[in-house]
Amino acid sequence: MIKLPDQSEFYTEGTVVVNEMLNRNTLLLIIALKDAFEFNAGQFVNLQRADGLTRSYSIANIPQESNTLEFHIRRLPRGRFSEWLHDEIKVGDTIAVSEPRGHCFYLPERSEQGLLLVGTGTGLAPLAGILTDALAQGHSGPIYLFHGSREVEDLYRIDEMRQLSEQQQNFHYIPCISGNHVPQGFARGRANEVALASLADIKGWRVFLCGHPDMVNQMKKLTFLKGAASADIYADAFLVTPV
Ligand SMILES: Cc1cc2nc3c(=O)[nH]c(=O)nc-3n(C[C@H](O)[C@H](O)[C@H](O)COP(=O)(O)OP(=O)(O)OC[C@H]3O[C@@H](n4cnc5c(N)ncnc54)[C@H](O)[C@@H]3O)c2cc1C
Repeated sequence: MIKLPDQSEFYTEGTVVVNEMLNRNTLLLIIALKDAFEFNAGQFVNLQRADGLTRSYSIANIPQESNTLEFHIRRLPRGRFSEWLHDEIKVGDTIAVSEPRGHCFYLPERSEQGLLLVGTGTGLAPLAGILTDALAQGHSGPIYLFHGSREVEDLYRIDEMRQLSEQQQNFHYIPCISGNHVPQGFARGRANEVALASLADIKGWRVFLCGHPDMVNQMKKLTFLKGAASADIYADAFLVTPV
């Protein structure tokens, strides 16, 4: 069973330095920290508002990039924290940031291993960190990123990922659309289904699954059945706090 993260922990103060939209409903938030902050790309932190409201968000950058943390925040209609971040927080505002948490990150070992990255919506955030880290650490095996949403307007970083796949021979990017209108250059179907149909064999591969809890839970089982060892399957289900 997946549980919501423990929220009793140590917090440090961060300052918002970038606040802009990545697409029609996803906010890019970059937070600068005063003190050194050690984390592994792909981990998440809890962000806390002055009144104590707390939510988990995945880190999208790698630790080598100055003392900042990048987040991709999807606006949920009537979502208390995400609407507050979208509508009210400004550059220069401060916010409490917890210690990094979670085990869904890249380890620089077996660099020839295949990596399968599957994410829905802002599930791209931790996967972007993991991908950047793997490439920076010289991962030589094939890396496949399947990023999915219902409509093309809800994907983001499409051009950047396409460009990266042209520069890096071992990186393959497949944006997937599960709705009816699928423009040229996009795969039709859910990211997890397209991934399973595209890769014949993932025996010995490392798998990273991030985003919608149903997708994550289903894919944990299916990638295992398709040959990935359970110790090689890393996952972050973006559980939403029950109202
Ligand atoms: C490990 C982890 C990592 C995560 N990483 C990310 C990330 O990188 N990016 C990201 O965007 N999210 C991420 N999440 C999800 C995030 O933590 C929040 O759950 C999400 O932003 C919603 O919080 P909220 O306060 O806006 O919504 P809440 O206020 O908690 O609302 C939850 C749900 O209830 C609904 N709701 C609210 N009020 C009402 C009402 N009166 N009647 C009916 N329905 C209502 C909302 O629409 C929403 O669907 C992650 C979660 C986890 C566990």
